[in-house]
Amino acid sequence: MKKLPFLSLLFIILGCNHKPQDQIDNPSTTNTELPTVFAAFETEPVSANPDDDAADDPAFWYNAEQPMLSLIIGSDKKLGIDLYNLQGKRLMTYEVGRINNVDIRQNVLGGIDLVGGTHRTKVSMDFWTVNKSDMTLQAAGSIATDLQDVYGFCLYEDPNTKECFAFVNSKTGAIDQWKLEYESGTIVGTKVRTLQLAGQVEGMVADDAHRTLYVGLEDGGVFRFKAGATDPVEAQFIAGSDSSNTEIVYDIEGLTIYATGSASGYLIASSQGNNTYAVFDREGMNEYIGSFGIVDSLVDAVQETDGIHATNFALGDAFPNGIFICQDGFNFDDDKHLAQNFKVVDWRLIAARIEAMGGKK
Ligand code: CA
Ligand code: CA
Ligand code: CA
Ligand code: CA
Ligand code: CA
Ligand code: CA
Repeated sequence: MKKLPFLSLLFIILGCNHKPQDQIDNPSTTNTELPTVFAAFETEPVSANPDDDAADDPAFWYNAEQPMLSLIIGSDKKLGIDLYNLQGKRLMTYEVGRINNVDIRQNVLGGIDLVGGTHRTKVSMDFWTVNKSDMTLQAAGSIATDLQDVYGFCLYEDPNTKECFAFVNSKTGAIDQWKLEYESGTIVGTKVRTLQLAGQVEGMVADDAHRTLYVGLEDGGVFRFKAGATDPVEAQFIAGSDSSNTEIVYDIEGLTIYATGSASGYLIASSQGNNTYAVFDREGMNEYIGSFGIVDSLVDAVQETDGIHATNFALGDAFPNGIFICQDGFNFDDDKHLAQNFKVVDWRLIAARIEAMGGKK
């Protein structure tokens, strides 16, 4: 049933071959031997110089009443946090400092939509709530960590107890888990345990339904931990997530989950060294399914992605199965090099690629 629209999209890809661009100035995605998709739109560039590594990690706020008015939340690790609409227009900039990674959980801790991020200058986790009436962020406190530095960040809600946690990591490989509480407009926290990987980590995502935390070891692959506060601290390596898989080239960067059901779906990792995204089964042993890249089409190809975020919420006719959001390390408009930004892909294109790879629906 979905074959025909996909074929017409494929035609758009094949039919939109731009003139060859300067390979030095504008790096096109090179891994054309792997399956490819293209972005539907891109956000406005962050407020940085084109050569600055500034945009980093996205999150997504779902507007249940008006899905097309949902928000892309993007960290600018030199400046703060930007909010974008689903046309890519920047709506707000919060100059709150060097926010590296951001994550969100909606309707937690008694009904708030909680955004959190790592603040590298303060070595803290900073929090905001989404004010649903005007879609702005409201500061909700900051928790100082005792880590050497803060880098990766994600949120986790225990599906049974509804307790909410933050995971924060340091470049040393230490990952602290904090239990969060919301008290008169402020997030407060208690550190409950420390996990450890042997090397530089950053990208993390919690799969709430599976009570699992995934962590990317930048030069070692993806590891999984049980996410409960009193669970064993042992890490399990995900087979096929390291460089023994020739379709993965370090660094491993952002991680995200795309749900196709309450338990099913995909774990996706940014394979920064070959400008692709590695897809794993969300269930079982997280079997590797395949990888894809994002090539030039309506907007430019995507390279050296840091953070990624996928959502399965239906967003109007344009994105009935949700979107995949990723940072682009080299943002070009034709031959003009602009500051970094975020690209957004119609999930249906990725789903078609995964289906062609033999992955589960
Ligand atoms: Ca980067
Ligand atoms: Ca994120
Ligand atoms: Ca990194
Ligand atoms: Ca690009
Ligand atoms: Ca990063
Ligand atoms: Ca562009």
